[in-house]
Amino acid sequence: MRIGILALQGAFIEHEKILEKLGVESFEIRQKKDMDRPMDGIIIPGGESTVIGKLLRELDMLESLKSMINNGMPVFGTCAGMIILANKIENDEKVHIGTMDITVRRNAYGRQLGSFRTVQEMKGIGKIPMTFIRAPYIEKVGKGVEVLAAVDDRIVAVKYGTQFGLAFHPELDQDNRIHEMFLDTVKAAIQNNESAIK
Ligand code: GLN
Repeated sequence: MRIGILALQGAFIEHEKILEKLGVESFEIRQKKDMDRPMDGIIIPGGESTVIGKLLRELDMLESLKSMINNGMPVFGTCAGMIILANKIENDEKVHIGTMDITVRRNAYGRQLGSFRTVQEMKGIGKIPMTFIRAPYIEKVGKGVEVLAAVDDRIVAVKYGTQFGLAFHPELDQDNRIHEMFLDTVKAAIQNNESAIK
């Protein structure tokens, strides 16, 4: 199994370290030709969605990423990464990859609550630490989107087919269970593809 980590801006190194700890091979996607390398899943890290979106356009990577994901490539977007995947951003006109049927609000927690930490229940996992940094939350989910976690009635984690979106930063906590959950989906997708070929 091999995971491509979008490494244009933001907290990509932290994801690399977690995968390394879990014994999973990964590589950085920095330019269009990196997307030709074989991979079984993609991580889009937190950072600044406007910057990541701009670079994806400038480097001509947006459409290729979009079609890979639409063709079933599992993807895991954290914070800005989730904003990049959303098909509607309440307080921004620009949609980026837009493969996830969710409406998000950027910088949704206001100034005082710009960053905070909590421990909350996540579906399929149990209680888990959640670190929010100038985080978005999810205002609305479309049909077929599964809500995995909410904090104070605001949705903060979702799954849509093989796409995961999280408003917080699991890569900043010493708890690998969310990454393992994503990797389980990647494994299942690999098995599905193999049985389709046979
Ligand atoms: N505020 C950032 C944005 O709008 C997201 C912050 C983060 O990824 N920690 O893109």
